[in-house]
Amino acid sequence: MEKLYDLLILGGGPAGLTAAIYAGRYNMKTLVVANRFGGTANLAGEVENWPGYIGPGIDLMRTIKAQAKRFGAEFLETDVKTVMKNGGAPWGVPSAQMASTDADKVGKFVLNYDGKEVRGKSLLIALGTENRQLNIPGEKEFLGKGVSYCATCDGNFFKNKTVAVIGGADSAAKAALYLADICKKVYIIYRKNEMRCEPISLSKIRDNDKIEIFYHSNPTEIFGDKVVMGLKILQEKPDEDAIEKILNVDGVFIEVGATPAIDVVKNLGLKMKDGYIVTDKKTKTNIDGVFAAGDVTNTAMRQMISAAGEGAIAAKMAHEFLMGK
Ligand code: NAP
Repeated sequence: MEKLYDLLILGGGPAGLTAAIYAGRYNMKTLVVANRFGGTANLAGEVENWPGYIGPGIDLMRTIKAQAKRFGAEFLETDVKTVMKNGGAPWGVPSAQMASTDADKVGKFVLNYDGKEVRGKSLLIALGTENRQLNIPGEKEFLGKGVSYCATCDGNFFKNKTVAVIGGADSAAKAALYLADICKKVYIIYRKNEMRCEPISLSKIRDNDKIEIFYHSNPTEIFGDKVVMGLKILQEKPDEDAIEKILNVDGVFIEVGATPAIDVVKNLGLKMKDGYIVTDKKTKTNIDGVFAAGDVTNTAMRQMISAAGEGAIAAKMAHEFLMGK
């Protein structure tokens, strides 16, 4: 592996891997670094909204990675410890002690992992988001066996079945409405007294005979055998005794939000909004030479296809940056 790259890409989901394809075609020496190639797209049981492809997310992501390799991208599977701006230090000299700004020769960004480092002349952050977890028994055990974090990806596996959706905001509402078109029955489990989704969604939910809401309720356990068979919830209405209920469900959709995966880049000084990296339409951040694409940004749409498009734009912008445009 080289030590100095034209473009370091952090994240191996649709945004990062598509950027790697385009960067390769621009003849940029590119390294994609991820702790799990494919990212959350791997979790999609069946991708139905990627033009020209219907099939498992994991297969699509493997194909995209192979495509990036074909154009010369290199890959590093590791947990990155830190990413820093380099003051222009040559190898072995702490950047703080250096005055030189010859980033072309020494790299502008330094990425540390396993006690080693690689450097890049430009950086693309495509780290995606991480699904917020409930951390209840059965959640991990039944992931992909009835537990899902994506109704549009996995809803079709539950045709004419009974499912529960956990959460009370927009994602939960959209998921419940989407699932009600497919499933026999949809329970919504929400911890407060009124869903806080868009009112239009709430009206549709109320008008839908298939959807039943349990307010003041928290899930406590997902149980089953080889696949999910049920969900335990605890309903705690004000001034009433708490009641444990058991719902016989085939699927549990956890829609309790997501958090951008920005831990390793938080020291760079990026401009953020609501926890997401702020970019312009060209994927540029507030830092020269740093681009961001996909779900980690304050984008209009968090979908694989839009992430891939942003990745392609980011590669072009990084190329222009290196050309001094
Ligand atoms: P969100 O707004 O963060 O809401 C998460 C929901 O899950 C909240 O109802 C929250 O309860 C609940 N929750 C969080 N942690 C929980 C826990 N440990 N146990 C039980 N419940 C928990 O996430 P989101 O719905 O994914 O939306 C994210 C953003 O995308 C929002 O800006 C949203 O408007 C947007 N979005 C828009 C659409 C649309 O079509 N317009 C669709 C999806 C998402 P509390 O209510 O008590 O906090």
